[in-house]
Amino acid sequence: LFVQAALAPDAELTLGKDQSLYLAAVLRKSVGDDVVLFNGRDGAWLCRLIGDSKKAVHLRVVEQIAPQTPVSDLWYGFAPLKSERLDYVIQKAVEMGAGLIQPIMTEYTQVHRLKGERMTANAIEAAEQCEVLSVPHIVPETTLSRLLAGWTAEHGDRRLIFADEGEASASPIETLKALEGQRVGLLIGPEGGFSPEERENLRAQPYVVPISLGPRILRADTAAVAALACIQATIGDWR
Ligand code: SAM
Repeated sequence: LFVQAALAPDAELTLGKDQSLYLAAVLRKSVGDDVVLFNGRDGAWLCRLIGDSKKAVHLRVVEQIAPQTPVSDLWYGFAPLKSERLDYVIQKAVEMGAGLIQPIMTEYTQVHRLKGERMTANAIEAAEQCEVLSVPHIVPETTLSRLLAGWTAEHGDRRLIFADEGEASASPIETLKALEGQRVGLLIGPEGGFSPEERENLRAQPYVVPISLGPRILRADTAAVAALACIQATIGDWR
């Protein structure tokens, strides 16, 4: 479970209502049982229940069981989608190894108001579920033109993998294998795709690597998961 509190031996903490209910009613934990907590800074800690009211579970920190792991360096930029699909892409991107997640506004993007807290909550929930001890960063949104103008200054030698349904080369695997050992990011477009000018501009950048995900037009959320799976299968995020 993720908590904001500092974790250190013998520290005591009280969980909020939702997490207390989850531990007591869903996981059926009671006094004397152990749970593992992390806060994104101090690694994983074994904690013991010392009070088990459903509204406020009390815990005592016992010992650290794993050191802190760094946030993955895999960047994922996406044109925001509507509510549930946005929740989905953030959860799945974290599960598939993205550590830096940035909304990118494009010409055909239809969603302009983003709920930062909801995006962070989804990233934390996914980090809990897949047991990464670091919480991925939700990077403030930007526009595609600002992203491209500042890419090299901000990202150095990171290559930008551009999922482009118009890309002619057949398999993304060979293209991605050639990037092994390099820092990479992945860019996925909005429901309406990138405009012709945006595609042309992207393809003109020396650090951009276009990939095809097959002959069918995938939903943006499907494309994100498919592309991240290809990246994991070839480059990985374990540097
Ligand atoms: N209208 C659908 C939706 O609502 O999600 C499909 C949108 S598709 C145009 C969105 C993005 O997914 C594209 O901009 C591209 O980045 C990626 N994409 C979809 N199919 C793809 C493919 N076959 N190859 C590469 N990228 C693809």
